[in-house]
Amino acid sequence: MNQTENINANWPGLIEAYKSWLPVSEKTPIVSLKEGGTPLIKLHSISTLIGKDVSIYAKYDGLNPTGSFKDRGMTMAISKAKEEGCEAVICASTGNTSAAAAAYAKRGKMRAFVLIPDGYVAQGKLAQALVYGAEIVAIKGNFDRALEIVQEASKKYPITLVNSVNPYRLEGQKTAAFEIIDCLGDAPDWLCIPMGNAGNISAYWMGFEQYYVAQKATKLPRMMGFQASGSAPLVLNKTINNPETIATAIRIGNPVNKEKAIQARIKSKGTFLDVTDEEIIEAYKLLASEEGIFCEPASAASIAGLLKRKQEIPNNSVIVCVLTGNGLKDPDCAIKNNEAIFHSNIEGNLKEIATILGF
Ligand SMILES: *Cc1c(COP(=O)(O)O)cnc(C)c1O
Repeated sequence: MNQTENINANWPGLIEAYKSWLPVSEKTPIVSLKEGGTPLIKLHSISTLIGKDVSIYAKYDGLNPTGSFKDRGMTMAISKAKEEGCEAVICASTGNTSAAAAAYAKRGKMRAFVLIPDGYVAQGKLAQALVYGAEIVAIKGNFDRALEIVQEASKKYPITLVNSVNPYRLEGQKTAAFEIIDCLGDAPDWLCIPMGNAGNISAYWMGFEQYYVAQKATKLPRMMGFQASGSAPLVLNKTINNPETIATAIRIGNPVNKEKAIQARIKSKGTFLDVTDEEIIEAYKLLASEEGIFCEPASAASIAGLLKRKQEIPNNSVIVCVLTGNGLKDPDCAIKNNEAIFHSNIEGNLKEIATILGF
């Protein structure tokens, strides 16, 4: 059986699949929704657009159980919290962490407390946290402030913090790098990824390094991290006090995993770059209308960044862009940003409809 079949058939969830690479033991109660094992999809139109001999793939992590890569980290964080006897978890969230924390906490029979920046969480994400039964506190302040508060709360009270400062989160998330290598047979030349709190880029780098050391890959990818221009602390190398972007999942001005991300960039000879909201939306529409893949705006930053770096792409290279979250998370953004032809208020008869459709 080849590795690709191994990944897709009877997928047991990422902890089971990569147990020997993760800090779990026989005693760890695995809380899983069969996350991971997401598809690597070839992007034909975008490869053509770049106009070189390149293979571009999307790692579509929006197909995880709650619709984002956060599930990879959360299955680990919640399983370990359960092992340690914890009864409640807390997180600050731009939305996806809260959806994942709530789902896995409930599956593990724990309470989930969620702090969100009031008015800056996409509808789909809020809907998830509500229906999973999280206890939600919307604060007057941004994500960075919410994170300071939950860090303090987890020190003072018997609640486990499940933001990406929790080391188990990154352990779970590194498995996406394993899956990419297992699928391609080697590491890609570039990995393009959006950065918010910069946990995911750090986790991918950890995964790529571990597989490289174990000789499961012959090379390491350049880590290409992208941020939104109004929220680009890692590109500008300074804290942004009032980050602003349409890509709310990466609207973070003071990333907690900053040092790790910088190390990944230096060691991989990668680069960080910012993309404007307009470029993000262009890439977002392109992915949906040309490739049939609907991701959320933050995820499209990886494609926007790749297109911006077009000139530097080496011939014959293999590039993976991480699509971190599902487009259904943010329906408002989709409804406001599309070029659909939408005829409304039409009589329900074929003759009239056929005329409108040009037949
Ligand atoms: C959390 C998130 C990010 C940013 O990931 P970090 O680990 O915080 O850098 C990007 N896209 C989506 C959809 C997210 O949910």
